Amino acid sequence: MSEMKWDITEFDSWNAQDFPEGMVGLEAGNAQFYATGGWRSIRPVWDAEACKDCMLCWINCPDSSIEVADGKMTGINYDHCKGCGVCVKECRFNALKMVSEHDHGKEGV
Ligand code: SF4
Ligand code: SF4
Repeated sequence: MSEMKWDITEFDSWNAQDFPEGMVGLEAGNAQFYATGGWRSIRPVWDAEACKDCMLCWINCPDSSIEVADGKMTGINYDHCKGCGVCVKECRFNALKMVSEHDHGKEGV
């Protein structure tokens, strides 16, 4: 077993005041107020022509980012989609594919 660089039980020796403040969540269940889509490096792209409105992507999306109106899929909320790819995996009709954010918008992508 490798030796630890410091004893994590000695909290006072961490000098926590020297580290920049990260995210502070003051309320539970507040993800709707954060644009978590900023974490994404790849995005799902929807082909409306191929879509059968089966809602499998909607049921399985962990971020409720599949947009629906009147029982039909209408798009993807990229403000919150984290690019996990679950929707693409679940779609049985090849109506979704993952594209890198870098390549998105380029011709043929
Ligand atoms: S990639 Fe993940 S977060 Fe984004 S729409 Fe698909 S299932 Fe939801
Ligand atoms: S899983 Fe595929 S076919 Fe079904 S609603 Fe989503 S994109 Fe459309």
